[in-house]
Amino acid sequence: MKAVQIVAFGGPEHLQYGDVPTPEPGPGEVRIRVTRCGVNPVDRSQVLGRWPWLNLPHIPGSEIAGTVDALGPGVAGLHVGERVAVALRLFCNRCHYCLRGQEQLCMADPRTLTAPAIPGAFTEGGYAEYTIIPALNAIPIPANLDDDHACVAALDGLTAWHMVDQARIAAGDHVLVVGASGGLGTLFLQLVAKRGAVAHAVTGSMANADALGEYGAATIIDRTSGDVAAAARDLTGGRGMDVVLDPTGAASWVSSMGALARGGRYATCGILTGAEVTLNLAPFYAQEHEIIGSTGGSRRDLVECMAAMARHELRVPIHARFPLSQAADAMRALSDPGRLGKVLLDVA
Ligand SMILES: [Zn+2]
Repeated sequence: MKAVQIVAFGGPEHLQYGDVPTPEPGPGEVRIRVTRCGVNPVDRSQVLGRWPWLNLPHIPGSEIAGTVDALGPGVAGLHVGERVAVALRLFCNRCHYCLRGQEQLCMADPRTLTAPAIPGAFTEGGYAEYTIIPALNAIPIPANLDDDHACVAALDGLTAWHMVDQARIAAGDHVLVVGASGGLGTLFLQLVAKRGAVAHAVTGSMANADALGEYGAATIIDRTSGDVAAAARDLTGGRGMDVVLDPTGAASWVSSMGALARGGRYATCGILTGAEVTLNLAPFYAQEHEIIGSTGGSRRDLVECMAAMARHELRVPIHARFPLSQAADAMRALSDPGRLGKVLLDVA
């Protein structure tokens, strides 16, 4: 089959397109013929060498939609040709958390204390014509949902869906969305607005201001032209934000915490700009702040997210799309100035 492998750490130039053996599904596994794969910042972090335990060569790609192509021994309840999205978490289906429907907290693999066990990172991923996944991870796509939306639901969609739940966003909350122009950001804006809260978008490209408004942003803050925390306070009569949704990591930590209102909640689901931060406990306890972690989501989150997309309640802007053979260009497109939304690989 054709596939794209990371052959060395560095930049997208180390993504190599070529032939590799077509994998066979083992017991409890299915082979997916990949139709779409999102090009996600998670993939870029692998190329940059920031992902723990990655052995090269490696096929990245964690945001996958396709059709079931072959069933391994013992697999029931799925049929060849069925359209599926790939649930984001590899899980044991037996532990305390899996039995409660919280697969994202599965404790079967101790490595997941510091990094999520996701297809395409802990396994070979979707930058390929075929990929192998546990049958438990194959989630049927609603008939009226296209593969573009289904693949985005599989990673950014369910991550946004779960984090908005984790942050307990309620009607009337003022919510700062950091990284609003990204794949997660445009979904956050829509989910915040859907809950009757007020979304304030932080972006590095004011060229996207009109579009961010269409996705639900009530106001736009240009992070390149000043103090984001001060701007957030100005927009709320000096009070600050009830919630900050910040998927970006350390680079925005100080401004995000500085934007919080009394009783405010900071939620994070990623470390793309770094993992190490410092916390001053004095304002933290005195203002009853909360810091909330959120990692991907469960299969139920994916089902609910795809259903919302099928009802046209969540739209996904597509910035650019490429054939599998141009995965390196696709990854470079993540850094396009003014990017709004997703970069996708049309695999089949
Ligand atoms: Zn488990």
